[in-house]
Amino acid sequence: MSEYALYVGGEWMTTENLLPVTNPATGETIAHVSQAGVNETRLAIESASHAFVIWSAMPARERAQLLNKVADEIRVRVDYLGEILTAEQGKPLREAKAEIMMSADYFEWNAEEAKRIYGQTIPASSNSKRLLAIRQPVGVVAAITPWNFPASMIARKVSPALAAGCTVVIKPASSTPLSALEMGRVFDAVGLPKGVVNIVVGPAGPIADEILSNPRVRKVSFTGSTEVGQRLMVGAAQDLKKISLELGGHAPFIVMADADLDFAVQGVIASKYRNAGQTCICANRLYVEDAIYDEFANRLAAKIRALTVGLGTDPTVDVGPMIDEGALNKVSRQVDDSVARGGVVLTGGKPLSVAGAERGWFYAPTLVANVPHDALVAREETFGPLLGMWKFSTDEEVIAWANDTPYGLAAYFYGRDMGRIVRMYEKLEYGIIGVNDPVPTVVQAPFGGVKHSGFGREGGHQGLDDYLDWKFVSIGL
Ligand code: NAP
Repeated sequence: MSEYALYVGGEWMTTENLLPVTNPATGETIAHVSQAGVNETRLAIESASHAFVIWSAMPARERAQLLNKVADEIRVRVDYLGEILTAEQGKPLREAKAEIMMSADYFEWNAEEAKRIYGQTIPASSNSKRLLAIRQPVGVVAAITPWNFPASMIARKVSPALAAGCTVVIKPASSTPLSALEMGRVFDAVGLPKGVVNIVVGPAGPIADEILSNPRVRKVSFTGSTEVGQRLMVGAAQDLKKISLELGGHAPFIVMADADLDFAVQGVIASKYRNAGQTCICANRLYVEDAIYDEFANRLAAKIRALTVGLGTDPTVDVGPMIDEGALNKVSRQVDDSVARGGVVLTGGKPLSVAGAERGWFYAPTLVANVPHDALVAREETFGPLLGMWKFSTDEEVIAWANDTPYGLAAYFYGRDMGRIVRMYEKLEYGIIGVNDPVPTVVQAPFGGVKHSGFGREGGHQGLDDYLDWKFVSIGL
């Protein structure tokens, strides 16, 4: 069993309160982590605040060199970091390693962006003045992250923040703190100045209270549920802190009659069942045009049935466990509700017992059809391996259904008619659209939502905007 400490001011700090970390596939305790409360969080913020003086003054090229070293070091450790991620979160090892490599990519991308934080010169109204606008780091950033992508969600926040010249206090999800603390070991190994990144693990309430009330924190970057995001926004308003929110999703996946059916089936599988459906951008509602509905349903159900469920460490496994009992119960409740309202389970529909992992939270990859549009699966984020399917007849009808949700993170559309493609992506009220593409996330593009899926963008050159303020300078000659 491993022991992990907090990372504060460049030192590893132990406390008496230990948090057990459980493997969701086996139910075993795999590590204990020292927990932070208000005092440790305050110390972390103070350390970040002191480090800000050095880090923000460091030439961008030097910051970039350190971020590139972080990227290199993550890649060197990919096998080990992937195993830790699978052990604490459950996803198949190949998905875990892909997440680690993407985390490295974020650091590399933002290392390059650090060198391109350009300002502007502005024509003055008279010859007696010169006007310019420069961009400066906002200050100390608090990054609060979820358990479903415990490495890349940190990389997506920390790398642009550091590139911009900010310093960071990370509060990872309590169920998956090990990937975050391993990242701390990487920061340590490459010689990031002490206090530039700090990691506090522990109960969200007191840590968040300190983050929100401490005036040294100038920005909060949150990824997680819409409910918690709303609470943080109210809290951040007291001190007028900047805030960006990457929240829940409820993605529609639309398949037109002219789509390549096997390609679209593969797309649904990749979108929905990756990470056991515990992905903010994964498909929740599948809409299939009436002419191909029966054929598509048959082909899709057969592919879902063929998915292997089990331990993420088994290389033949496609779908790992869910994170905990509550997550599994949510899927069960949505399936029960669908059936009670006349829905038909085409495949799956029950928890699974996996040999050798009887205490794991496994649920069979599931497809339900004939469900009314007010069923839970059509209204609530599922966050599990359950997909609802509906038949549609016209573009107007399917666009109205697709947009009939408070969420607006990702939407998918499969078809070949260019006119329909353009009309679709223009009318879908979402921040990310995958056209014949089930996995649109890339480091060089802006990721984020609209409506109750939040605001702010991560990735791309836009990813730095949230960590920078404009400063206008007017010079009289
Ligand atoms: P969550 O319950 O909102 O937790 C996310 C983070 O917030 C965790 O670190 C959690 O800490 C912390 N937290 C919980 N209550 C808090 C409070 N009152 N104040 C401050 N922080 C608090 O979400 P989750 O279950 O971990 O993650 C799943 C959700 O994240 C889904 O809705 C998913 O769609 C969303 N998500 C969105 C994106 C995106 O980019 N839009 C990406 C991934 C996930 P503890 O773990 O200690 O409770």
